[in-house]
Amino acid sequence: MKDTAITEANPRPNHAPSKTGITKPTVGIDIGGTKINAAVVVPDSKPGEEQFQSLINAPTPTDSAVFMDTLVTMVDTLKQQHDVAAVGISTAGVVDSIHGRILGSTGNMPALKNLCNLKELLEARIHLPVHMENDANAAAYGEWRSGAAKGAENMFAITLGTGVGMGIVFNGQMYRGTHFYAAEGGHIAISYHRERKCTCGRWDCWEAFASGTGLQKTAAIALEAAPETAKAEFLQNYCTNNEVTTYAVIAAWKDNNHIGAKIIDQWHNHIAVGLGSLINVMDPDMIVVGGGLAQFVNFELLKERALERSMSNDFQLVPATLGNHAGIVGAAYLALETLS
Ligand SMILES: [Zn+2]
Repeated sequence: MKDTAITEANPRPNHAPSKTGITKPTVGIDIGGTKINAAVVVPDSKPGEEQFQSLINAPTPTDSAVFMDTLVTMVDTLKQQHDVAAVGISTAGVVDSIHGRILGSTGNMPALKNLCNLKELLEARIHLPVHMENDANAAAYGEWRSGAAKGAENMFAITLGTGVGMGIVFNGQMYRGTHFYAAEGGHIAISYHRERKCTCGRWDCWEAFASGTGLQKTAAIALEAAPETAKAEFLQNYCTNNEVTTYAVIAAWKDNNHIGAKIIDQWHNHIAVGLGSLINVMDPDMIVVGGGLAQFVNFELLKERALERSMSNDFQLVPATLGNHAGIVGAAYLALETLS
């Protein structure tokens, strides 16, 4: 256990990330379940300058051959407009970013099942070096390299959406672990009571509580325990066909409905439990919270509750600033820096 009697702030290292000196435009591609987004990232843009240009998108094809053709067309389009040096790809799944291979499940993207050597296949067709990265890693790197956590020495980013994603930058470098399975913070267990089954097949993962799906489950439990009249009122005012969705909870909370407020309060506790544990392992100087649900997070309250559970009291908890494009930015920077 660390000496908690030390009250003076620790001396902090120089936080300036190393500059590569590379300024060539790079294509960043973010492959999502329904849409592929691509843009050209201009490294180390000055304040006020656009971080990325020529944003284009296409629906994600389910057929592998069509999928490949779509990626090639997107890169060709961007190559016509910019002198592109490399391509960085952000995708779901466990990614061996050294060899550019997709090792694990890619969720709802059937096209990728036959494309585990996507890097090799794409390089042969676009004649540019390609770097592949897990999407949560890429998003964290984007936020670290040019977003909310720019200049941090040790940071992690979490995304609160359907699941809970995580990426770590440790000692100024992307941390992937020995077998590329690091930063699966969404799957740390926060209980041993077998309360909730996770999408990964295990029990009581953080994700099963802190994600949108987890929030929905918390809401269902809260409503079950609520008096009949309050429950009926909630269902009638905020739910369509008695379906308790994340949106219904948010609407109730915004309306100062007391069940809605209670659910959101409990959700903050759920997020804080995982954060506190991660802080105790990582001792980061910065934590970034992004994803579709981040806009509903009360950062002051969350920090207060995370502090109650962590040894360190010297970290910043901030909202992500690159939004949906963090993956594009991160993948592009990783491509440039890895390939240089
Ligand atoms: Zn899990």
